[in-house]
Amino acid sequence: MPMSEIADIGSNLADVRRRMAAAAARVDRNPEDVLLVAVTKTQPIELVQAALAAGQLDFGENRPEEAWTKYADPDEPQSLVNRTVRDIYRLHLIGPIQSRKASLAVACRPVLIHSVDRVKIARRLSRFAQEADLILDALLEVNVSGEASKFGFAPEEVEGAADELVTLPGLHICGLMTMPPLEPDPEAARPFFVRLRQLRDRLALRWPQISWRHLSMGMSHDFEVAIEEGATIVRVGTAIFGSRP
Ligand SMILES: *Cc1c(COP(=O)(O)O)cnc(C)c1O
Repeated sequence: MPMSEIADIGSNLADVRRRMAAAAARVDRNPEDVLLVAVTKTQPIELVQAALAAGQLDFGENRPEEAWTKYADPDEPQSLVNRTVRDIYRLHLIGPIQSRKASLAVACRPVLIHSVDRVKIARRLSRFAQEADLILDALLEVNVSGEASKFGFAPEEVEGAADELVTLPGLHICGLMTMPPLEPDPEAARPFFVRLRQLRDRLALRWPQISWRHLSMGMSHDFEVAIEEGATIVRVGTAIFGSRP
């Protein structure tokens, strides 16, 4: 691990936080209402530790297997559970979860699953959460662009499935997540962020028993636009850790 990369993490984080605060200020939002999740997929544990040392507590991983070995496996000496004195960090699962990985996803004890993208996986997570005696906080991933390559519920589909989703035991739905089409211009993502917020507002009217508080949207190149459009969580990887190995 080159020392320069490790040394950069603190200043990269400070820079991202400063840009987040500026974006919040532009639309009169409290910067404290936006959570930064540092996305560590494929990055070595040394960089995660450097971020932790710089005060970052929320980390995101895409794949349950990688999350388990890097963060949660008690039998893996290299995992973060065995490397920190205090169990203070919070793991977020942000990628698609295959059915057969649902039980591993629950075993990781994530603070939030951002990517519940179909009813079947919601049911399985619900089942494993109940077995583990947990209430899992989760977001519904919505494909607001309609791109075939994207995971997530179609917007109409969420409204069709919400009656079941909000009553699944062991699962506590608390908002929405999206990944807009990747375009070089961050402004291109704005209409998709607006659509996610509008969908959330509609859901909140129809299912007021759920808080629908969170909008997880915005990555390295468009998190400022996302915050201007109401993101409560941004998921940032490369702007903190550099390009992925
Ligand atoms: C990788 C990933 C991110 C972070 O992407 P960057 O462009 O590196 O910031 C955010 N969200 C999800 C779901 C990801 O898979």
